[in-house]
Amino acid sequence: MLSAVANHFFCHWPSQCGVCRQWGTQALCPDCVARFAAPSTRCMRCGLRLGLAGMVCGNCLREPPAFVKTCCAVDYGFPWDRVITAFKFEDRLDWAPALAKLLHHALPAAPEVDLVLPIPLSAQRLAERGYKQAWEMARRVAALRRLPAHQDCLLRPWDTAHQADLGRRERQLNLRRAFMVDTRHRALLQGQRIALVDDVMTTGTTAQEASSALLRAGAQNVQMWVLARTESA
Ligand SMILES: [Zn+2]
Ligand SMILES: [Zn+2]
Repeated sequence: MLSAVANHFFCHWPSQCGVCRQWGTQALCPDCVARFAAPSTRCMRCGLRLGLAGMVCGNCLREPPAFVKTCCAVDYGFPWDRVITAFKFEDRLDWAPALAKLLHHALPAAPEVDLVLPIPLSAQRLAERGYKQAWEMARRVAALRRLPAHQDCLLRPWDTAHQADLGRRERQLNLRRAFMVDTRHRALLQGQRIALVDDVMTTGTTAQEASSALLRAGAQNVQMWVLARTESA
């Protein structure tokens, strides 16, 4: 399985591996994918690491999140933290195809999704960064899955303070109503099963608020497709 996944990363030449810096034919070399992106058992609902497959963690049992499940490819730690930081903040958009494939291979064969959307950036954050990293992954994963994707359905009209600087309660307050559905695209969502794509899930607060906005607007259910999950919420 792993070698089949790893072989899938042969696509560009020449290219330097984003993890080990070896020159080769792809943005992530097969050795690094096999070594650092091995499948792991996680909470089906929120993606946190669990000892057993097919289980739901205590947090999700006590307080089920708005999203029905989370699929993620890797842990947010060495070496992916550095790769994702470069992808987000250092113009390494050339890694988008390889990262999208990594996520694609972590998804179930039939994910029960009708429409793929990215977690949106605010206009201010987009202006700072110049590109929407979640959309760059979302549209590629959707293409690999032969699913439709839309970049403007879910909006983030207001800039919110950097989430990393805030505590859990502050994050929730900060994000409440931070997301809204564009009324022009509301019809697209009705009764649809949505996959929301993001690069990293940390506390799940962003996922919670974005999912709630989609459900309020008429989506049937929402699942999260995230590249990397932090080890604890
Ligand atoms: Zn490598
Ligand atoms: Zn959980």
